[in-house]
Amino acid sequence: MTEGRAREDAGVSDEVRVRDDQMRVPDDVRAALDDGVRVALVEVVGAGHVLTDPDLTTPYGEDWSGRFAGPVLAVVRPGTTDEVAAVVRICVDAGLPVLPQGGRTGLVGGSVPGAGDPPMVVLSTVRLQRLDPVDEAAGQVTAGAGVTIAALHEHARAAGWMYGVDLAARDSCTVGGTIGTNAGGIRVCCYGMTRRQVVGVEVVLPDGSVISHLGGLLKDNTGYDLAGLMVGSEGTLGVVTAARLALHRPPRASAVALVGVRDASHGLELVASAVPDGSRLLAAEIVDAPLLQVICDHASLPWPLPSRPAHVMVIETESPAPGEVALDLPDDLDVVVAVDAVDRARFWDYRDRAGEAVTAFGITHRFDVTVPHGEWDAFVADATQRLAAVDDVAHVFSFGHLADGNIHFEVIGPAADDDRVDEIVLRCVADHGGSISAEHGVGRAKAPYLHYTRSPAEIAAMRAVKNALDPQGLFNPGALLA
Ligand SMILES: Cc1cc2nc3c(=O)[nH]c(=O)nc-3n(C[C@H](O)[C@H](O)[C@H](O)COP(=O)(O)OP(=O)(O)OC[C@H]3O[C@@H](n4cnc5c(N)ncnc54)[C@H](O)[C@@H]3O)c2cc1C
Repeated sequence: MTEGRAREDAGVSDEVRVRDDQMRVPDDVRAALDDGVRVALVEVVGAGHVLTDPDLTTPYGEDWSGRFAGPVLAVVRPGTTDEVAAVVRICVDAGLPVLPQGGRTGLVGGSVPGAGDPPMVVLSTVRLQRLDPVDEAAGQVTAGAGVTIAALHEHARAAGWMYGVDLAARDSCTVGGTIGTNAGGIRVCCYGMTRRQVVGVEVVLPDGSVISHLGGLLKDNTGYDLAGLMVGSEGTLGVVTAARLALHRPPRASAVALVGVRDASHGLELVASAVPDGSRLLAAEIVDAPLLQVICDHASLPWPLPSRPAHVMVIETESPAPGEVALDLPDDLDVVVAVDAVDRARFWDYRDRAGEAVTAFGITHRFDVTVPHGEWDAFVADATQRLAAVDDVAHVFSFGHLADGNIHFEVIGPAADDDRVDEIVLRCVADHGGSISAEHGVGRAKAPYLHYTRSPAEIAAMRAVKNALDPQGLFNPGALLA
């Protein structure tokens, strides 16, 4: 009995029933994975790594947010780059759509098939766990696509280095997935996004050929930047199997402060003057007060400040030495400062747990968008006002990476497939001169709106690249380019 069947018998909700229908693979389509294809896949990766039982494949069809789900024909877990190439060739020869998948923490419906999509073969990178010793001379490391960002951090830290991209999903998200989405996170203001860390990639293209550019040369002006092309390609141009990544020397020490501010503009003013010469801003995040209360309730944390400001910021700066604080803040602000590791981690909890706290409400329309500096407050006010036209909006929260103009705007209430919310919020982003995706990518959720902030010429160029590398359109069809 399948999991879906069991839940139907147990009398599940309509929402779950709809979800099961979205994920069901019709028998005639399942037959497409005929014995010939299945046998060929098993010959490459072994029987234990070709999953076709719906009880096993269903979890690979549903993402972290719970908003997106679709039908999975099979899950294949190759263990080497050669195996990836062989699996790709088998699938493409059989005309089967392939979806490269890492930790499934993507939040735009790019890491799972869409509800109306043809059933896909999920190519999971979980077994691509190569992790070479840190190259001390170059300050670089080569890592397999399936290595989690937390494992990469641990590996770099043990060698006296650090990786510049960090995000709350670090325990699950992978090197390949963060390259696929060009992930940002909490350290962008200091080290840049994933694109800036990627020195080279190894990738299996849709025709099964392998490009391996892992030499780590900092200067290499020999034509198109193929590694750069793969960053942010969301699994539509091939499978990244490994990457050569730049590392950084970690800060000498750091201090984390929680600061009450009126609004985002007030927060940005502080950031501009808070960091003394010779120090560095390591992070500047903001959470609105209603969401902070939700986080406190969800994570059983006390309200962190004596007063109740409209927003609370998390600022982290490099310190000259452990125990010292390099942070110039006006005396009249409500501020608490952490200088030891335990307090720093405790303060970061107020920000890191935002995503899961919102998820506890149920299905959320999540928007990860950028607006120009100075537009944050105007955008939030405008989008909130426009959403008044949608009856069932119960909560609107905003938080995000203040220093980057990157707002996470969360709308709770409307059903997962109620696209009015997406239309309103993303149109508002365009009207404020922003981008409909700051760092999560486009996926399936935002593909219909790409033209809001990308020109016809840009989209045509993207399609030309896609058609050149994947002429059959089999790689993550429906994601990024609708
Ligand atoms: C709690 C939480 C906090 C988050 N915070 C942030 C944040 O601060 N900043 C941020 O940028 N994102 C954030 N995210 C989103 C998510 O973690 C990132 O998008 C991450 O990069 C996804 O990595 P993944 O391994 O889970 O990839 P998946 O979700 O599995 O896949 C994401 C996309 O990449 C493609 N892909 C995966 N692996 C490969 C590969 N090997 N080759 C080619 N394409 C591939 C997939 O096809 C898909 O399109 C957060 C998510 C959660 C749940």
